[in-house]
Amino acid sequence: MAHPKRRHSSARGKKRRANWKTSLPNVVPCKQCGHKKMQHYICPNCGHYRGEGVIDVSDN
Ligand SMILES: [Zn+2]
Repeated sequence: MAHPKRRHSSARGKKRRANWKTSLPNVVPCKQCGHKKMQHYICPNCGHYRGEGVIDVSDN
C-alpha cells in the first residue's frame, strides 16, 4: 500500500484544516406560501412540495 515517505508537521496539517469552512443550509422561499424552507424539502409551513399538497400540516 502507498505510504507517506516523510511525516507532515502539525502546522502543515493545521494550515490545511484552517481552510475548512462551514456552509449555511440552502434556504429558498416556498412557492405556495413564501415561507423559508430548505431546498428539496417539503415546506414545514404548508406541507407543499413543487406546488402539490404532499402532507397535512394542520396542527390539531
Ligand atoms: Zn409553504
